[in-house]
Amino acid sequence: MDGDYKRAVVEAGKTMLHSGLTVETWGNISVRNREAGQVYITPSGLPYDELLEDDVVTVGLDGRVLKGHRRPSVETPLHVAVYKARMDVDAVLHTHPIYSTVFSCMDEDIPLFIDEAAQTLGDTVRTAKYALPGSPELAQNCVAALGRKANACLLKSHGAVCVGKNLAACFRTATVLEMTARVLQLIRSMGGTFHPLSDENIAATRELVKKTRYGQ
Ligand code: 13P
Ligand code: ZN
Repeated sequence: MDGDYKRAVVEAGKTMLHSGLTVETWGNISVRNREAGQVYITPSGLPYDELLEDDVVTVGLDGRVLKGHRRPSVETPLHVAVYKARMDVDAVLHTHPIYSTVFSCMDEDIPLFIDEAAQTLGDTVRTAKYALPGSPELAQNCVAALGRKANACLLKSHGAVCVGKNLAACFRTATVLEMTARVLQLIRSMGGTFHPLSDENIAATRELVKKTRYGQ
C-alpha cells in the first residue's frame, strides 16, 4: 500500500523533470492516503533522476515526519495546508515552469480564455501574495489563492501549484496552465487582445467533458 503511493511520487518526479515543468531539484510532489491520514512527499533537494521509493517521506497532516530517512520538502507546510483546506484534493504538484512563472512575477491572474483551460483549471488562476519559500505564510497565501474551486494557482516570483484527485489530474492541469500562459504571452507579444470565455460557454464546455461526449 505504502509502496503504491511512493512509486507514484517517484514516477511523477521523473515526469515533472523531463516534461520541462521544473528545473534541477525545484518543485515538489505529494499524494494523500485519505484513510491513513498520511501524506507521501518528495525529499528536499534530491535530484529527481536519482529518487528511489525509499527516499519518499511520510508525514502527517500536521506536517510532522512519520516515516523516512530523508528531510521532507521545505514546502511540506504548503502541501498539508492544501489537503486540510480542500477535501476534494488528494495530490499536489508544485512546479517551476517558465511561462507560468513569468505571470507569477507580473502578479497577474490567468483567466479562462481557451477551451482546455475552461475544462481543466477549475477557476481563474490567481497569484498568491509573495512569501518566502517554505514559510507558513506561503502556505496560507497559496490556500487563499486556490480558493474553493481552482485547480491551480501561481506563487509570486516563484512557480505554480496544481492540485487534483490524483497526480495524473495535476499533470493535466500543469500542462494546460503552462500552455495557457504561453498563448497569453504570444497574444501580448503580437500586440493582440483576447476575450475571456463567457460563464455560459465555460459551463457548457465543462458539461461536454462531464457527459463524456469527449474521448472514448
Ligand atoms: P524542496 O526541494 O525542498 O522540495 O524545495 C524546492 C522548492 O521548489 C521550494 O519551493
Ligand atoms: Zn518552489
